[in-house]
Amino acid sequence: MQLFRNFKSVTKTCYGRGSFGKLGEILEPQRTANEGFMVFVVDDYFEDKPDFVQRIPEQEGDEIHFISTLEEPTTELIDKLRDDILSRRGLPAGIVGIGGGSVMDVAKAASLMFTNAGSSVQYQGLNLIKEPGIYHAVVPTISGTGAEVSMTAVLTGPVKKLGLKCDWTVCDQILLDPDLIATVPQDQWFYTGMDTYIHSVEAITGTKKNTFAEAYSEKALEMCREVFLGLDRSDPKSDELLMVASYMGGLSLTYSEVGVCHALSYGLGKVLHIHHCIANCIAFDKLEDVYGAYVKEFKGMVAQRGVHIPQGLAKEWSEETINAMAEVAYDLPHMWDHAFGPDWRKVLDRERIKGWYRRM
Ligand code: NAD
Ligand code: ZN
Repeated sequence: MQLFRNFKSVTKTCYGRGSFGKLGEILEPQRTANEGFMVFVVDDYFEDKPDFVQRIPEQEGDEIHFISTLEEPTTELIDKLRDDILSRRGLPAGIVGIGGGSVMDVAKAASLMFTNAGSSVQYQGLNLIKEPGIYHAVVPTISGTGAEVSMTAVLTGPVKKLGLKCDWTVCDQILLDPDLIATVPQDQWFYTGMDTYIHSVEAITGTKKNTFAEAYSEKALEMCREVFLGLDRSDPKSDELLMVASYMGGLSLTYSEVGVCHALSYGLGKVLHIHHCIANCIAFDKLEDVYGAYVKEFKGMVAQRGVHIPQGLAKEWSEETINAMAEVAYDLPHMWDHAFGPDWRKVLDRERIKGWYRRM
């Protein structure tokens, strides 16, 4: 293991039941910057939930934009949102994302694109952003992706599905209120929750594993076991554990890497537009040859929670589709390097990748 990353962390973290009520107070000192208004991007699930919308600390001049999560965020969505707000109002004081990984990524990406000219397409990748973005905060309403702590904002562009990844992507503020995730539907709760389980597994089962990543990962795994194998979901402790597990699983990756499951998941996402977390579950379910006992444990969680992991999908896929997904996956050398070491090309070719897809 030789990694020597020098990473930035989230500047401020507020955690606790009811902490959403503190958001107004938290934003107050930020409001004098630029044109002095805040932009709230909010999952459109909440659009017809007036009790929730009333709690958003919107002041005169602020804007609320409801964001659909039917599709994962695209470069086009970010460019349009930025152009619209800049042309009408100028530069906001800050942007706040309230929702899941999709909406958090919209807030993170938009904060950067407010100050970096041109299309977000040209910034998909590592350290391509030239100027720091505006103040940005996120409030997760579903837990598992770790987008609240990561240094990337994943966008689907015309060519790549790839994040705007740099130190400035990391949030200035996160607010973790376990009350907010209570309403997540059961299947989605499981799929997104499993993202942190899989992050934690992948972080410590590869050549880049290290004590730092293990510390976060092992705690996140322990919390996932309580949430998905132990507690009743109605137990208040369950949402508290899952919210912190998401954070810990995210941090486990900060000083390690994702592996085989995420590489295959990117293929499913890019070619078939299958959303990240369910795509991970579809792939992880078939990776017993790589992740052994963890896959057995995953299947136990699936059985215990009675959730549906799609099966038999490959029957409907043409060779062309499988080739295209294998190409996307093969083109992620940092993941394969982590999974199998620098000589990964000796143990992995496109045929092996296609074999995994054919099992799904
Ligand atoms: P999501 O944001 O796509 O939302 C999933 C569903 O849950 C949506 O239908 C949404 O409306 C619903 N939902 C959210 N909160 C709810 C609530 N409180 N009650 C009821 N329904 C609620 O879900 P996700 O799984 O958190 O995020 C997936 C996205 O995150 C993908 O776009 C993926 O690329 C991205 N991602 C980013 C990172 C990162 O580090 N930036 C990491 C992993 C995944
Ligand atoms: Zn993930």
